[in-house]
Amino acid sequence: MIVTLKAGVHAQAIGQRLVALGLWVERLEGDGRVCFQVGPSSRRVSRESLLSVDGVEAVLSSRSAHPLVDAGPRTVRAGGHELGVGCEVLILAGPCAVESEEQIERLAAALAARGASFLRGGAFKPRTSPYAFQGHGAEALAWMRRAADAHGLSVVTEVMSELDAEVVAEHADLLQIGSRNMHNPKLLERASKTGRPILLKRGMAATIEEWLSAGEYCLLHGAPGVVFCERGVRGFDPSTRNLLDLAAVALLAEVHHVPVVADLSHAVGRRDLIPPLARAAIAAGAHGLVVEVHDDPGAALSDGPQALHPDELTPLVRLAKTGGQR
Ligand code: PEP
Ligand code: MN
Repeated sequence: MIVTLKAGVHAQAIGQRLVALGLWVERLEGDGRVCFQVGPSSRRVSRESLLSVDGVEAVLSSRSAHPLVDAGPRTVRAGGHELGVGCEVLILAGPCAVESEEQIERLAAALAARGASFLRGGAFKPRTSPYAFQGHGAEALAWMRRAADAHGLSVVTEVMSELDAEVVAEHADLLQIGSRNMHNPKLLERASKTGRPILLKRGMAATIEEWLSAGEYCLLHGAPGVVFCERGVRGFDPSTRNLLDLAAVALLAEVHHVPVVADLSHAVGRRDLIPPLARAAIAAGAHGLVVEVHDDPGAALSDGPQALHPDELTPLVRLAKTGGQR
């Protein structure tokens, strides 16, 4: 955005007014006139407020790259649950991978009893190494659906390939696009065309604008809603698996007013930090928490160190239901 000034005004004083409004401005000069370029980290200020600053001539704004997201659904209904602005904070929990029919039934019972809303679990698994366990595929989708239905849970699971979009949509209420696929437009398109809402994980090195644009693409191709999922970005410090970007959560919740959840397990990669970060994520405005849960984390086929035991979910559910008050 560019703010142009009338001729002969005191540019420095106007610059200070803009900074006081929360804008990062860069002064540009030419033809004896001054204007200010407003940087992307600036607070959102309406056009009208800027035009009301004495000495401002015009406000030239570029088009948003994501108008459907800007105007779009503030809540998303998936299965029997509604998630987003003004809704109760929900818990989306389950194993990293669906390991067997017995396992997912046992976990669904345990999670429902403790107040989770969504059963998560990978039937198709993206892995850091392609030689690692890739999931039980379509069979696991059916196990998951049965287990969720038996206990009143909704299902969220990842679709990794365009070829699987339909079968995943037949079994899941919310289609997860994984971090490694946020930049895969053909997959976004096919998943969105199923008509199911999308849980869009942030690419591990994606900017917020890229993430919002990917959400835009889903809405454009028929998704009835998008839940944005912050799952940590690549950081420089291996003490946590990724770097949980709570500023992104606050920005999406408080400025963009879109449904946003925080995946704490993948963000930090260690279960001991999940409880404090659950409090922080809710304080930042998260509408839901994603956590991996396993009843024998040591024996998990994937991501055991970041999985909670079902009993450890109880305080998280209490926290969510009270909006983050301890
Ligand atoms: C997952 O949620 O199962 C997963 C693989 O996460 P991500 O895409 O964020 O790595
Ligand atoms: Mn995992």
